[in-house]
Amino acid sequence: MRLLYTDKHPMFEARNIGCYDNVALRADTAGGCTHIDISFRSSPRRPYFCTMELLKNVSIAEFTSFKIGGKADYFCRARSVDELKEALAFARRHSLPIFILGGGTNMLLSDDGFRGVVVKIELHGVKWGEASVVAAGENWDSFVAETVARGLWGLENLSGIPGTVGAAPVQNIGAYGVEIAEVLEWVEALDMRTGEIKQLSNADCAFAYRDSIFKKQEGKNFIITRVAFRLQKDGAPNLQYKDLAEYFSSGGAPTLQQIRRAVLEIRARKFPDLKTHGTAGSFFKNPIISKEKFEELKKRFPGLSGFPVPSGVKVPLAWILDKICGLKGFEQDNTALWKDQPLVLVNKGGASASAVSALADNIAHIVKEKTGIEIEREVNFLC
Ligand SMILES: Cc1cc2nc3c(=O)[nH]c(=O)nc-3n(C[C@H](O)[C@H](O)[C@H](O)COP(=O)(O)OP(=O)(O)OC[C@H]3O[C@@H](n4cnc5c(N)ncnc54)[C@H](O)[C@@H]3O)c2cc1C
Repeated sequence: MRLLYTDKHPMFEARNIGCYDNVALRADTAGGCTHIDISFRSSPRRPYFCTMELLKNVSIAEFTSFKIGGKADYFCRARSVDELKEALAFARRHSLPIFILGGGTNMLLSDDGFRGVVVKIELHGVKWGEASVVAAGENWDSFVAETVARGLWGLENLSGIPGTVGAAPVQNIGAYGVEIAEVLEWVEALDMRTGEIKQLSNADCAFAYRDSIFKKQEGKNFIITRVAFRLQKDGAPNLQYKDLAEYFSSGGAPTLQQIRRAVLEIRARKFPDLKTHGTAGSFFKNPIISKEKFEELKKRFPGLSGFPVPSGVKVPLAWILDKICGLKGFEQDNTALWKDQPLVLVNKGGASASAVSALADNIAHIVKEKTGIEIEREVNFLC
């Protein structure tokens, strides 16, 4: 079916979607989805300055690295801030909830799907200067590779993390002794409540371990559109993390390229290949416990290591799952704890979201029973 309607045709409630005159709609049904193209003319001299394609009844699993989950009622791609605003206006007019999707590498979507609008952020562009300013839809690792190629220090230890630049501040991504909070200058975001673009400083983002304002109620109204980083021409290697220190133990200061290569090699040994296994990476955060609790556990389990942080001691959950709980490689209903890194839960093929959730609950229960520690999920659950 292909239909073309112009102006405010009541069939598609064009007036409810945008506030412009001269609205054009095109609907197209193919493969079980209805595509609705909405175009706006602001004036005869600026034809079609904004277009947004809305898809109905779309399977979202293919947009996630877990490859799990049902359909969303609506799906669209935001390739500009104007398209993002159109998507928000559509959701508001129809009183639908909205979910902002990046690369889908840190989420688990319910088997029942999402009764609202999923907006995939596809804003692109990088501006290189004193600060490197990157649009939210850029691929994180491609950006890191480019910083390394340009001889800019700061992000090399964060090589190989999947996903988009816009999602990186949400959980303050970190790896191999570095978090983006250390080099992030500001975040630009669209405030869903007012439609205004705001700039948040590093301090405004309230970064903490795998946490930021964007995970809290007051920050959930922000859609990140651009991120600025201050990178160094004359940086120094950060090799404090054990795996990297061991990799370069033969001496000499490694170059940026050597560090990136080392990180990618180490990660390849630990994480499953996303082409063969569905996963969202580490499913849980490493727990932060009190000093007293750490000392009590250390007596019972002398091999347990701990890393002091301002709020207590951070302990490695992967070690606890392996050495204390004996769960490495454990399988249940097409899901498993990855054999080389038990913090990573995998979809072995055909797993459901409820099966992953049941495995996660089971793990949390065993950890609590064996150590008294309550663990917290890192992965975002969308239902
Ligand atoms: C194999 C593997 C390894 C990983 N390794 C690491 C690691 O070493 N360190 C680490 O920290 N993480 C790691 N992760 C987790 C994941 O890659 C990161 O959290 C990444 O930043 C998620 O990006 P994304 O674009 O896929 O986000 P999504 O999964 O699409 O979204 C994650 C959350 O961010 C929100 N969001 C996305 N974009 C925006 C935006 N523009 N504005 C506002 N909110 C937004 C979403 O609504 C959602 O709540 C790993 C994941 C996998 C699969």
